[in-house]
Amino acid sequence: MFEYIGAVHIHSHCSDGSGSLRQIVRAARLAGADFIVISDHNNMSIRKEGSSGWHDGVLVLIGEEVSPHYNHYMAIGIEEEIVPNQESAQANIDAVARQGGIGFLAHPFAFRRRSNGWVARLDRLIGLDVTVYPWRDLHVKRFDGIEVWQYMYDWVKSVNSFNIFAHVLAPERFITGPTAETLKLWDEANARRKVVGIGTLDAHAKPRVLGMFPICSYRYLMGTIRTHIICPEPFTGESMADERSVIEALRYGSCFFANDRVADSSGFRFYIKSGGVTYQMGDKCALADDTELCVILPRDGEIRVIRDGAPVSVTHGESLCRNVRAGGVLRVEARIKGKPWIFSNAIHVT
Ligand SMILES: [Zn+2]
Ligand SMILES: [Zn+2]
Repeated sequence: MFEYIGAVHIHSHCSDGSGSLRQIVRAARLAGADFIVISDHNNMSIRKEGSSGWHDGVLVLIGEEVSPHYNHYMAIGIEEEIVPNQESAQANIDAVARQGGIGFLAHPFAFRRRSNGWVARLDRLIGLDVTVYPWRDLHVKRFDGIEVWQYMYDWVKSVNSFNIFAHVLAPERFITGPTAETLKLWDEANARRKVVGIGTLDAHAKPRVLGMFPICSYRYLMGTIRTHIICPEPFTGESMADERSVIEALRYGSCFFANDRVADSSGFRFYIKSGGVTYQMGDKCALADDTELCVILPRDGEIRVIRDGAPVSVTHGESLCRNVRAGGVLRVEARIKGKPWIFSNAIHVT
């Protein structure tokens, strides 16, 4: 198995981000990302600065954040730009599928804590009364996955003019993990069919005037919440084939996501052994007498096993192996000192 680290959902200066393709690639290389996904709002114009594929040791995928006013859908693996249908989120999901691409509900429960009194007035004055764009139509079908954890929306939910300096100087203090609503949406969707969870950035690297602060740089953001894919074969160095490998791993759910600022999550593994066969994230397997679940963490942490949305065990350590006595949708979460760290995709045991 071959693991590659992805920094996903990046805006360039072709929408409301600040960087050129060259600047974004450089930041990705410095942050240690193997692949990146650039997803500008309603356009793929960044292709004018260079096509997708390998750039300086970083595999660049150019997608699009199909962005009607609400219900943003982050699409990868499409060739033609999609003009968003403002009325029908389902039409946008289907337009991505028609091109053979995959898509993820972007920041489905984006929210901001309301400021009051003078803080609210100051927020308006200095432009911190940020508008957020949650999903309004969650009855949609046929989407491939969900952005379960997104760095910028996790960070921005609590920022105001009173605490802005704490937020820019110590951003990690304010990162609290996927919201309970998002995890519930993901687990409920997974009970019906496979729905892949990913962790993304929504990196804009703005405003540049605050560029000395880490939170405003692409490089910093690309070292935070990342989606690690697990591939059966190594990258070949051939752009089209390697892009296809990333897309297929994400489509299948052969991936986990983690805040790598908490600790490097490379090497995390979750698999199930049953009847002499080893099953990986994204797989389905039948329950047998010898079915066993295994988790390996790259360092000591709390391991939670979740079945059908509910925790079934919480242990501490670097690894876990236990018998599986009942079927269900099994996934794993890990924490370090209470801080959310790693979230696996699921293995369905039937
Ligand atoms: Zn968005
Ligand atoms: Zn975005």
